Amino acid sequence: MDQPAHPDHACGHDRAGLVARAERLCRERGLLFTPLRQRTLEVIAGETRPLGAYDIAERLSLPGRRVAAVSVYRALDFLTENGLVHRLASRNAFVPCDHSHSGGESAVFLICRACGAVDETTSAEIERGLNRTLARAGFRPASRIVEIEGECGACQEREGAEG
Ligand SMILES: [Zn+2]
Ligand SMILES: [Zn+2]
Repeated sequence: MDQPAHPDHACGHDRAGLVARAERLCRERGLLFTPLRQRTLEVIAGETRPLGAYDIAERLSLPGRRVAAVSVYRALDFLTENGLVHRLASRNAFVPCDHSHSGGESAVFLICRACGAVDETTSAEIERGLNRTLARAGFRPASRIVEIEGECGACQEREGAEG
């Protein structure tokens, strides 16, 4: 695993653990964990920053053997649908999911604008509030992802030390 760019951030995803979970999940659901799906997950899991589909395609490409972005998008659709990665709409980029969400559980992302670190967390309070809001509006969500941009604790500290 590379040196985490963020000293305070317990980042560095557990790549082997994520792949093992994906294999288990695909076996249970009778889905095919193709080499491209696996390699796509590994590339995302090997980064501490969210990656876009074109970056992923580039990393998967070998000299003379380019992987098309459209194939990566298909692999990403599969991984997203099965809760193995999340798409951050504000970045149009993907992060691996270390949680095992029960169906329809929301994910809250804290995205640092200074260093780009992304923290995923879940919150029962937000979950309950979101459920009430959705019920009141009669809205059926396709995804339940909350993205909050700002500054992470480490960057605030660094700023404090510099100022
Ligand atoms: Zn998640
Ligand atoms: Zn930061």
